[in-house]
Amino acid sequence: MDKKTHSFQAEVKQILHLVTHSLYSNKEIFLRELVSNASDACDKLRFEALDRPALFEDAPNLEVRIWFDAEAKTITIRDNGVGMSADEAVAHLGTIAKSGTREFMAALEGDKKKDANLIGQFGVGFYSGYIVADRITVESRRAGLQHDQGVRWSSEGTGEFEVEAITRAERGTDVILHLREGEEEFLSAWKLKSIVGKYSDHISLPILMKKETWDEEKKAQVDTGEWETVNKAAALWTRPKSDITDQQYQDFYKQISYDQEPPLAYTHNRVEGRSEYTQLLYVPAKAPFDLWNRDKRGGVKLYVKRVFIMDDAEALMPVYLRFVKGVIDSADLPLNVSRELLQESRDVKAIREGCTKRVLAMLEDVAQSEDVSQKAKYAEFWKQFGAVLKEGIGEDHANRERLAKLYRFASTHADEGVSFADYKSRMKEGQEEIYYITADTLTAAKASPQLEIFRKKGIEVLLLVDRVDEWMLSHLYEYEGHTLTSVAKGSVDLGKLQDEAEKKQAEAAAEAAKPLIERLKKSLEGRAKDVRATTRLVDSPACIVVEEGDMSGHLARLLKQAGQSAPESKPILEVNPEHALVKKLDSAEGSEHFDDLAQVLFDQAVLAEGGQLEDPAAYVRRVNALLTGT
Ligand code: ADP
Ligand code: MG
Repeated sequence: MDKKTHSFQAEVKQILHLVTHSLYSNKEIFLRELVSNASDACDKLRFEALDRPALFEDAPNLEVRIWFDAEAKTITIRDNGVGMSADEAVAHLGTIAKSGTREFMAALEGDKKKDANLIGQFGVGFYSGYIVADRITVESRRAGLQHDQGVRWSSEGTGEFEVEAITRAERGTDVILHLREGEEEFLSAWKLKSIVGKYSDHISLPILMKKETWDEEKKAQVDTGEWETVNKAAALWTRPKSDITDQQYQDFYKQISYDQEPPLAYTHNRVEGRSEYTQLLYVPAKAPFDLWNRDKRGGVKLYVKRVFIMDDAEALMPVYLRFVKGVIDSADLPLNVSRELLQESRDVKAIREGCTKRVLAMLEDVAQSEDVSQKAKYAEFWKQFGAVLKEGIGEDHANRERLAKLYRFASTHADEGVSFADYKSRMKEGQEEIYYITADTLTAAKASPQLEIFRKKGIEVLLLVDRVDEWMLSHLYEYEGHTLTSVAKGSVDLGKLQDEAEKKQAEAAAEAAKPLIERLKKSLEGRAKDVRATTRLVDSPACIVVEEGDMSGHLARLLKQAGQSAPESKPILEVNPEHALVKKLDSAEGSEHFDDLAQVLFDQAVLAEGGQLEDPAAYVRRVNALLTGT
């Protein structure tokens, strides 16, 4: 094969431009990324060799070597992993397989520090080499291919790269960085070792560097020609808990998650019993950019007896815990386990159940802590992940009660952080139900006329304004025996919360309003399913409610926004017979204005509920007519 010039995919060009022009802090992470690729390549070889041991050729010990040449100003990272064929080099180093480029750029734009650390999150780590190099040469041979089927890939990281065939005896890959002017600080064994120590200690294969000694004559460190292992090379999770410091746990988290913040909590256990496995699981403190993508790769890596199997083992965690990061190392699963097998395996099911329980327990610990900083952490966690956790109520039947206890809401009592337990502790004497209202925003929820009687009586109402709340409510009907009741559905029945005198008064008012109600029904035919007097209002003349079992106006709007059809059901208009406007309406009976007033009353109730008028112009016209008395 002759030397061939290829053009980078457009997205790669953009990434390269950003990498070379805007990443100033944390430059050293290039080494972490390249070592991580080397380690991935070794993992891949080990996995492929399960079926084809011949791929190991005569070098079964997988390792990474790093060295530099101070004169040529190069750093080389070598691995004897799976390597790349020429086609693979073109595909893998010239295009980006995963999506996320856009998010990466957006993240960079938002971040004034221009932190290079971001790069690893987005699956474009190889290009981080260009932070410090103005040319990268990659020489590689795919395991199993002939020696003369090696490849040399080379590029200055601008628009193009060159590829040519080479002969290469060693299996695996050399990545050779030709350092930019000004990046000479990396031409130091001490510097490189310290970066490896900082980022790559947990890599479970040895990373070797040349041993140096002090030469008195030359007054400099010189190469002894010997190689030494510079990392611990023991997977963190296989070490006993007592040997691992909190800092080490946190460092490991940073390495696997690319998250700069320390995790909210973590748990490390060896589980024995029907299924044997080690779990090291982390709950992040901050949501990743792609949290809302339910198809995104899971954050839990699967190992079997310390052999890396796969990265995105979604079968190990329920979808609603997709933000959990960590490692599961199973002692029982076969090494050649496939995705299909994972879905069906009883061992995997046991692991998933075990891990789910662990994660919930971690969250409970933080949520229930009396410690102020833990409380604040949970509040922040809830802000970031609450909506995802709410998905769990429909997904994970077995853990419904535990999940419900972790939920936090806004209410008429506090703008955030209200748990069902808090609500329960504030329930009034004789109150049996948990009241809630759904709305598009907190402001709209707070302004709902339906809340008036509850406010007056000091009864707390949960204000549910998350998009997933309606969905959650379709799976969560009660909490510890208390039914969840919408204050905007059906007729209000405060039962024991109303005393006899109040009930009598209400009945009398309703009786007196009967003729008015009948007229309103006629005027609003086709718009309102029913009109009735209510006791739920204090300051407002009227409000909209839906019949028990009908879809709330809020949910119908959400569905429409999502492009789905919502069943057309008409609302019920409830009027407050004590209100001045309603009294005025009563006295207008027989007058020409009655119909207009009735329509305005209805339209206002729709607006107050956050709904949209079918004919806003007609509403404006009527109000103006009433205002001017024409
Ligand atoms: P990621 O590692 O997230 O896939 P990178 O940009 O770091 O993204 O690497 C891109 C791809 O290049 C890798 O997925 C792999 O296929 C290939 N690659 C990079 N380095 C090596 C290596 N040392 N050995 C074999 N393949 C490699
Ligand atoms: Mg990588």
